[in-house]
Amino acid sequence: MIYLDYGATSFHKPPAVYRAAEKAMHCCANPGRGGYGAAMEAAKTVFDCRAAAAELFSCESDQVVLTASCTHGLNIAIRSVVKPGDTVVISGFEHNAVTRPLYALGADIRVAGRKLFDWDDTLTEFERALKGADAAVFTHVSNVFGYILPVGEMAALCRQRGVPFILDAAQSAGTLPVDFSALGAEFIAMPGHKGLLGLPGTGLLLCSQPGKPLLFGGTGTQSIRKEMPEQLPERLEAGTMNVPGIAGLTQGLKCLKRIGTDTIFRQEQQILGHCVRGLVGQGFRVFAGAHQAATVSFLPGMDCEEAAENLAKRGIAVRAGLHCAPLAHESAGTLETGTLRVSPGYDTTLGQIDVFLRASAKLPPFPS
Ligand code: PLP
Repeated sequence: MIYLDYGATSFHKPPAVYRAAEKAMHCCANPGRGGYGAAMEAAKTVFDCRAAAAELFSCESDQVVLTASCTHGLNIAIRSVVKPGDTVVISGFEHNAVTRPLYALGADIRVAGRKLFDWDDTLTEFERALKGADAAVFTHVSNVFGYILPVGEMAALCRQRGVPFILDAAQSAGTLPVDFSALGAEFIAMPGHKGLLGLPGTGLLLCSQPGKPLLFGGTGTQSIRKEMPEQLPERLEAGTMNVPGIAGLTQGLKCLKRIGTDTIFRQEQQILGHCVRGLVGQGFRVFAGAHQAATVSFLPGMDCEEAAENLAKRGIAVRAGLHCAPLAHESAGTLETGTLRVSPGYDTTLGQIDVFLRASAKLPPFPS
């Protein structure tokens, strides 16, 4: 199979990730729950992950909360920053992991900036919408179209206006710089299982404040208290942790450090260019532009789900539909049809894109 669905998860992990997870299953008990060897080994495993993440994202280890997913982190972050009825600015490209928690909270949602690949529009609309807003939540990269939002400038606008903000780094962590201290976000949420090359069931939440717990329970510390501990990271980490997943994630982070996220970004840009040129040449409607990460959506002249099934039969894994981001499709005018999304990753080769393009050539072109 040629796997081109890295936007969903990095299905191929570096071998060290699997090895570390397996070792942890044999060597680690419950972290913070005992002073014996296997519990201490688990505590060290968790500490190593926080330290590796803190180094990559420029924060302190105890600002790194280990979550079960990016969705988990976003829910904590949103509940910590947004009160029911608050006015919250979001971009026109948000995932349901942002919009649904806001909707569930009864936030007054302002969508700002709906033009793909257009930083001027994004910034003008975002600045306008920030007036009188209580908070902002925005994605770094659209999971449907690969649009890289101007988050440095958006963060600066939030800081100037004193609007707290949350960044969804689900599609950028591991390929683009994410500097927690420079951005000044209240929280940055990211999954462990996509660009960070870890296993499913892992995620990171970078926190500038203690936040509001989403889960209440044991932390292995201050057990006499009725309330959750005040300090991070325990405050936001009730319950037994996914130590094997965390051990794997540390190796994913180390692998990124070794290769360099800038190297991965450069390689992926080359792959993206090759893929876009091929798809355009085959007569599809291709969503491509400036400021694009290695994710591209396109429309063939047939139903996208059927086209994805057709490609799957030829051994190509891509994703069709709305990609849990109806807002992004509404912004791009593809809510009715969805799109076919190709998202290569750190180990995708030009040769694999050629195989994909030979298969996509069999799909009907988009009617002109
Ligand atoms: N935000 C974006 C932009 C995403 O693409 C995704 C997953 O695809 C998420 C949030 C949710 O991530 P997770 O599945 O790890 O909860």
